[in-house]
Amino acid sequence: MFFDSHAHYWDHRFDEEIGGAAPLLTELFTNGLLGAVNVGTSPNTSRLAIEQARAFPQLYAAVGIHPSDSGELSSDPDIAVAEIESLIRKKDANKIVALGEIGLDYHWDDVPREQQMRYFEAQLTLARETAMPVLIHDREAHGDIHTTVLRYPGVTGVFHSYSGSYEMAKDLIRRGYYISFSGTVSFKNAAKVAEVARALPREFVLIETDAPYLTPHPYRGRLNHSGYLHYTAEALAALWEISVESVAAITAENAKRLFGL
Ligand SMILES: [Zn+2]
Repeated sequence: MFFDSHAHYWDHRFDEEIGGAAPLLTELFTNGLLGAVNVGTSPNTSRLAIEQARAFPQLYAAVGIHPSDSGELSSDPDIAVAEIESLIRKKDANKIVALGEIGLDYHWDDVPREQQMRYFEAQLTLARETAMPVLIHDREAHGDIHTTVLRYPGVTGVFHSYSGSYEMAKDLIRRGYYISFSGTVSFKNAAKVAEVARALPREFVLIETDAPYLTPHPYRGRLNHSGYLHYTAEALAALWEISVESVAAITAENAKRLFGL
């Protein structure tokens, strides 16, 4: 009975490797997946995310522009962000539950940082205007992301696949943010992430797959999907010294509170 707070079921890998995500999603929701957020990374993939979400009552959509995707768009964020805004304003039978994913990526660093920042700030502004929670992608950009979100008090959301410090997470939670852990918490070389997860207040923790990426430990390298979420939950259960069922219940409750479900 898990809630997957971050996945990309429109990704071409589902089409190429299993002929599309629809049969898989049918199976997952039949077998007890409670819900999932299907996250766009550009205006086009955001539309695809909404379209897929319409087919399943438990599948929700997030719309936004990922820092790496912003490289294929105009250096001026106005037009693309206006497209995202029009998707949010249509509301699509309340299928859209968040604005994301947005943020900064200094790992690939494939888009000039000033451009990444322009898109990030334009979408934080949009989040403030539309009162939408944000899904934040922070890859090796902890300092800049932290100081930027401080400039937008009142905007909240979730830091997805968290990899920052305990101190930063505590400060973000104090400002209304949630922290989401992916399969990386089960990776053997992720002692730091595990220590952060162990110490945080549980009522602000979510779990996610980031499918088709970040496949958990025993299946690393394969196509990830929400059916593997229990590996992340098991890792948290061991860290928190509670049952997997309790982790499932706590994190699903947190997701419903954040996304207003
Ligand atoms: Zn993602």
